[in-house]
Amino acid sequence: MKRILITGGAGFIGSHLSEKLLNDGNDIICLDNFFTGSKDNIRHLIGNNRFELVRHDIINEYLAEVDQIYNLACPASPIHYQYNPIKTIKTSVIGIINMLGLAKRCKARILQASTSEVYGDPQIHPQVETYWGNVNPIGIRSCYDEGKRCAETLMMDYHRQNNVDIRIARIFNTYGPRMALNDGRVVSNFIVQALKNEPITVYGTGSQTRAFCYVSDLVDALIKLMESNYDKPVNLGNPDEHTILEFAKLIIELTNSKSEIIFKELPSDDPTQREPNISIAKENLKWEPKIQIKEGLLKTIEYFDRIIHNK
Ligand code: NAD
Ligand code: UDP
Repeated sequence: MKRILITGGAGFIGSHLSEKLLNDGNDIICLDNFFTGSKDNIRHLIGNNRFELVRHDIINEYLAEVDQIYNLACPASPIHYQYNPIKTIKTSVIGIINMLGLAKRCKARILQASTSEVYGDPQIHPQVETYWGNVNPIGIRSCYDEGKRCAETLMMDYHRQNNVDIRIARIFNTYGPRMALNDGRVVSNFIVQALKNEPITVYGTGSQTRAFCYVSDLVDALIKLMESNYDKPVNLGNPDEHTILEFAKLIIELTNSKSEIIFKELPSDDPTQREPNISIAKENLKWEPKIQIKEGLLKTIEYFDRIIHNK
């Protein structure tokens, strides 16, 4: 049994990670400021005496005795991280400094939830970890992209300078139950629109690509990475790449929706293609995703259907 701090533990990925690590017999401190997370995501864990919920913002120092830290606190959807961009940078940069300080003092191992956004609008495809990326430092996505890049720098510097035991997960688009209804990301938007028979909003021509990983696969990968000896950045995601237009049609098919597809303006700096090369994860973590897109989407559709129709 380990004492594990999960920041952002009431969020989409954090709630699944909290549940899994709790079920594995660990002691969990779930820390969240509830900006995009919700008590509903972890309500079923409250009451377990190995689960502690703490309302806290990681831009302020937090003191505890723990063995491991998963740092997931940060809004992940473009709408939410652009809502207050200065706060997003503070969360990424000051937040990770606080968590690295905690890791250093407790000699805890720390895993940072980094992102495929460190590659920006990538000119190498699929993306490999050795690629340094193509990021606009002054655009509307920069608060997130540069914040996460700086957090990786801090992880490496605390490792080199202070011997902090680090793990860096570069997470690619992940989806599943407990994504917020108003999250604004493509999976939740399209499913909610389709279930309500409202127009599906494809941004641009829909020729941009993404590759989607189901949340249980991602959680397994995060735990495997934490337990591994691999201290360099690792891509975690599902290499099954789709254009956004194809994806819209797939959601319409799986929901039997009457929705039509409409086209809206493409937000600036929207990456044109994205797909992880996961050779490092396969080799070092002995991990690869198991859930196929249709299976994962059907589970996610069932979840949103229940939420929307109060079932
Ligand atoms: P999410 O928005 O559902 O979860 C983030 C959680 O962090 C929320 O519960 C939110 O309330 C909390 N939070 C935000 N700022 C905080 C702060 N200052 N202090 C304390 N808590 C704070 O997003 P998610 O999809 O679960 O993402 C989790 C992590 O994984 C994020 O760091 C994100 O950048 C990273 N990530 C996610 C994806 C994805 O596709 N879901 C892809 C790449 C990286
Ligand atoms: N997108 C879209 N319609 C929507 C929401 C998103 O066409 O209603 C597109 C968006 O422009 C991007 C892709 O879907 O190209 C993925 O967007 P998301 O916000 O989910 O995550 P990103 O990978 O861009 O961070």
